[in-house]
Amino acid sequence: MTHLRFTPIVSGNYIGVDIGGTNTRVGVFESLNAPDFVHLARFHTYQSYEEQLRHIIVAVQANNREHLSGIGVSIAARISKDGHSVSVAPNLPEYVDKPFAEDLAEGLKIPVRLAHDTVCGLLAEKQFGILHKIDRCAYLTVSTGTGAAIHLGKASTTLLSSIEIGHQILDGNSLKCLCGQVGCLETFTGGRQIELRYGCPIAQITDDSFWETYADKLAIGLVNLAQLTRIDVVALSGAIVLQQQFLPPLLQQKVNTILKGSTLELKKAALGENAPIVGAAALLGVPEDYILH
Ligand SMILES: [Zn+2]
Repeated sequence: MTHLRFTPIVSGNYIGVDIGGTNTRVGVFESLNAPDFVHLARFHTYQSYEEQLRHIIVAVQANNREHLSGIGVSIAARISKDGHSVSVAPNLPEYVDKPFAEDLAEGLKIPVRLAHDTVCGLLAEKQFGILHKIDRCAYLTVSTGTGAAIHLGKASTTLLSSIEIGHQILDGNSLKCLCGQVGCLETFTGGRQIELRYGCPIAQITDDSFWETYADKLAIGLVNLAQLTRIDVVALSGAIVLQQQFLPPLLQQKVNTILKGSTLELKKAALGENAPIVGAAALLGVPEDYILH
């Protein structure tokens, strides 16, 4: 069994930040050995990079705790390969290519780590949730967009990577994705794209045939993921999975029908909406080299 080599934590306060497309949360953790934290702030995510930076710094400084050991940031955006900035962010375009890690470190004078929210969700579920003892696993978020991260481990070797599961191409799909490609899975599963096409939030769609197609497409995406990576378990998260209770069992049934030669177990993530903020803080206990952004 492989465990992420979390560094032993002696003491100190750790800041976790969850920057979603809509809301940002800031919390303080007294230890990285438990998923417990105290909320410091919650605010609407600013489209302006400078405003967002300022509000995070103010929230942390207002906390008045001494000996902050570092700040980990989960962001709903693709992170540059060096882990220092945002590289692709359709929902937060003004953040792209800004020196985010450097600016936060300069403003707070503490170590900074950034990661895609799926990487943080996976870290949280791996350390405290349903992926705890699973060597080959993934964390899937089904929300505004469709994103994932994978963990592949054996003995002392571990790979933890953000992947673009929503932008895999499905055969015969002629729909144009917001990313610019034609045929992406996310044209069927992304909440934002569905709302643009149907003219109403996905939560309001009750048509059974819509959800059958939705589950058919997502099941193909998951089977492709299982065949390409040989993962055993997927933690399901995101607003769409949380709102549509019938979806996980329907997806599991469809995956079981398609997939041959191996099995893929789908489980609802245990930490719910706290997974990204808990995983953000957990970044501070994991060596930077463990994560492929
Ligand atoms: Zn796409």
